[in-house]
Amino acid sequence: MSLKIMIAGCAKEEKDAVGSSVKKAFTDRPQDEPWSVSVVKVANQWSVEINGPEARYKGLSIVAPLGDLTGSLKNAIASAGKHSPKPAAATPNGNGDEKKDRHDCEGCSAPFEVIYTSLPGERQEVCPVACPQCWHVNHVPIAEGAGATGDYRAQAAS
Ligand SMILES: [Zn+2]
Repeated sequence: MSLKIMIAGCAKEEKDAVGSSVKKAFTDRPQDEPWSVSVVKVANQWSVEINGPEARYKGLSIVAPLGDLTGSLKNAIASAGKHSPKPAAATPNGNGDEKKDRHDCEGCSAPFEVIYTSLPGERQEVCPVACPQCWHVNHVPIAEGAGATGDYRAQAAS
């Protein structure tokens, strides 16, 4: 793994210890990930900025107590990792809004509704939806998470 560590604001002797604390936090990351961490001692704590391989790991900044740099880094990375836009993170029932989009079937021209749960600001992607009347497969945009889990259904529009 490529891990760049910048350390400032502390004594030279401290830098080795800080460097190895930082490295410890990254030992279980995949080999090919590029990370950079800048650690600055401010007053009695570490001010840390982390930049990782994915958008959710860019510009993470945390404040860590002097004694627990490794743990604080691990926590920050783990909680940023949970902000994944992957389907597992999408709430199937609950926080999202149920959407009902109306489309006309390309096969039989009958209108139908596609029902799915969409999170605020969620992107859409085009997914196959079988017409409830003639089973022609239409391709319509629905929320990314619902599309990925197949958690959507079509019904005849009234
Ligand atoms: Zn149809």
